[in-house]
Amino acid sequence: MIFETHAHYDDEAFDSDREELLSSMQENGIGHIVNVSASLDSLDRTRELMEQYPFVYGAMGLHPDEVGDMNEAVMQKLRDYCRLEKTVAVGEIGLDYYWEKENHETQRYWFERQLELAREEKLPVIIHSRDAAADTLQVMKACRADEIGGVVHCFSYSREMAGEYLKMGLYLGIGGVLTFKNARKLREVVEYAPLDQLLLETDSPYLAPVPYRGKRNSSLYIPLIVQQIAEIKHLSCEEVIEQTEQNAMQLFLT
Ligand SMILES: [Zn+2]
Repeated sequence: MIFETHAHYDDEAFDSDREELLSSMQENGIGHIVNVSASLDSLDRTRELMEQYPFVYGAMGLHPDEVGDMNEAVMQKLRDYCRLEKTVAVGEIGLDYYWEKENHETQRYWFERQLELAREEKLPVIIHSRDAAADTLQVMKACRADEIGGVVHCFSYSREMAGEYLKMGLYLGIGGVLTFKNARKLREVVEYAPLDQLLLETDSPYLAPVPYRGKRNSSLYIPLIVQQIAEIKHLSCEEVIEQTEQNAMQLFLT
């Protein structure tokens, strides 16, 4: 079954039909979902979702746009939440120089602190990196992310940069962007990367694949992404689903 490695079902975009939607996942071939927290508020909402649904797991962390809310008390809360039974990762954490809501120094500081937390709690990381390729790689290398393990979610950089992360043994998260017309660079990355280092994701409610681009996304659209990967790599959809499921099990559930 499909392993959805990155969604935000705590988002208000799902307030009207969250329960109905999540209850329909398993019958539609979605076996596991990692709900990824981003803001301080979403830590508790992620916790509720993973307690409510047996197939939902959680990632705990503060997104680079949200690290203005960080302090030692929040770090302690994160540490406590890392120890919950169904927490499978620290994330999403990283650097975002596109929105630049917090200055680079602040972002880097809390990125490094959360990488350390993951190492101490023996959890993999879910990395968000936008317009910050060089600095992200530099921090990841300095913090020995190769030993921590994890995924660069919604991978958006070049093939060369992909090679750097693959060498470190990290996974690349592939989502709806792969179906966009202007996704030439990402197609090259998917062609180049071994299937056993790719993960399926949506970033729901964002980044819906074509033909739903611009609308609310959900894990139910993952088959559209699978189809693209299968075409690029000359494989069947079943092979893509099976291998990426194994990859995610290996990273998050073993
Ligand atoms: Zn996300």
